[in-house]
Amino acid sequence: MSTPILVLNCGSSSVKYQVIDVDSETVLATGLVEKIGLPDSVIAHKTGDDKHVIEEALPDHTAALALITKVFETWGPPLDSVVAVGHRAVHGGELFREPVLISEAVTQGMTDLAGLAPLHNPPGVAGIKAAQKILPNVPHVAVFDTAFFSTLPAEAYTYAINTEVARKYGIRKYGFHGTSHSYVSKTAAAFAGRELADTNQIICHLGNGASISAIKGGIAVDTSMGLTPLQGLVMGTRSGDVDPGVFAYLARVAGMDSQAVDDLLNKQSGMSGLNEGASDFRDILAKTEAGDEDSKLAIDIYLHRLVAYIGSYMALLGRTDQLIFTAGVGENAEWIRTGIVERLAGFGLRLDESINRVRSGDPRVISTADSTVSVLVVPTNEELAMARETYKVIRP
Ligand code: AMP
Repeated sequence: MSTPILVLNCGSSSVKYQVIDVDSETVLATGLVEKIGLPDSVIAHKTGDDKHVIEEALPDHTAALALITKVFETWGPPLDSVVAVGHRAVHGGELFREPVLISEAVTQGMTDLAGLAPLHNPPGVAGIKAAQKILPNVPHVAVFDTAFFSTLPAEAYTYAINTEVARKYGIRKYGFHGTSHSYVSKTAAAFAGRELADTNQIICHLGNGASISAIKGGIAVDTSMGLTPLQGLVMGTRSGDVDPGVFAYLARVAGMDSQAVDDLLNKQSGMSGLNEGASDFRDILAKTEAGDEDSKLAIDIYLHRLVAYIGSYMALLGRTDQLIFTAGVGENAEWIRTGIVERLAGFGLRLDESINRVRSGDPRVISTADSTVSVLVVPTNEELAMARETYKVIRP
C-alpha cells in the first residue's frame, strides 16, 4: 500500500515541496521553485536520481503551483495519487495549537494573524488557496511552526510588559521551528531507547535561523524565539537578543523608522552583520582560519550566546539527559559542537572527538560514555514530520 502526501512550504518568493509515502516513509519527489515574482523564476524537480530544471517567469504562487502541476504530469509521480496536502504555516498565534484541517475559517484565521508574521502568513495562505484549486478533492492540513510550543508555561511565554498592552496585541512568546524541535525530540529519545516521558532534552536547531528549546518529558517548557523569530540565538542574518532599547535609540539618534530597524535586525545582523555579509558557516570558518579577527569574534559571540542559553535551560530542567544538535550548522559544523561542549566541560559534558568528526546523515551519540549529559546529532526532517502530522489529522 502507498499513502502519498504532498508537503508544501510556501515562502514569500519560493515554494518547497515533497511527496512522501507515509506508509514506507519514503520520498517520492522533491522540488523547489525559486524567485517567484521575478522574470527568471526557476523550478527544480527531483524523482529518484532524475533532476529536471525549468526556467519560466512566475508572477505569483498560483502560477508556481500551476507549473508544479505540469512537472508532476510530465515527470511524475501522478499528483492524483496524493491523498492529502500538508501546508507549512508559520504563525498560529493563540488560535492554532495543533495541526488543523483547512477550512475557510482557518485561512481567515491565518490571514487575521498576518500582523504577527507579515513575511510568512500571507504567502502561506496564497499557497493554500492555489493548491486547493489544483487538488480540490483531497483534504488540506495546516501544520503550524508555533504549535509545539503552545505548551509553554505562562511564566515562560509572558513578557514582563504591561499586561493590558500585551493582551490587547497578543504580545507573548510563541516560539518557532516547532515541527523540527518536536521531530528531533521524539527521534532522539527513540534512538537512545529512552521513554520520551522520562527524558529531559535541550535541542539546538542551528540553521540559517536558529532556536533552542528545553523539553521535559516531550513537553516544551521554554524556547528562544519569541513573538517573532527574531529573539534568541545569533542567526545567519538575525541579531537574536538585543536590548529592546536599541529600537528607540536608533529612532532617536539615527532617525530610523520601524521598518528600517526591523530590516537591520532581521536582514543585516547576526553572523552576516558581523562578517561583512558572510552568513554561511563554511565561509566564516575559512575567514577565521585566514586570520580574520571579526570572524573569530563573531564565532565567539555565537558560542557565548548559545552556551548561556544551554546553561539557563539546564537550570530550568534541573536534570538534562540529552543535548541535541540539528539543522545545517548543528548537523555539519563539528567545530561548533566542539566549541559548545568544551565550554560546558565544567558541568561534566565530554565529546568523543573521533565520533564528533564523522560525517553522517544518521542520528548519533557524540559524547563519551562518562559524559554527564548524552550529546547527540539528530538530523531534522521537517517534511517527514509534516507528512506524519498531516496523516494524523486525516487518518480515518
Ligand atoms: P539550514 O537553515 O538548516 O538549511 O542551514 C543552513 C546553514 O547551514 C548554512 O547557511 C550554513 O551556514 C550551514 N551549513 C551547511 N553545511 C555546512 C557545513 N558543511 N559546514 C558548516 N556549516 C554548514
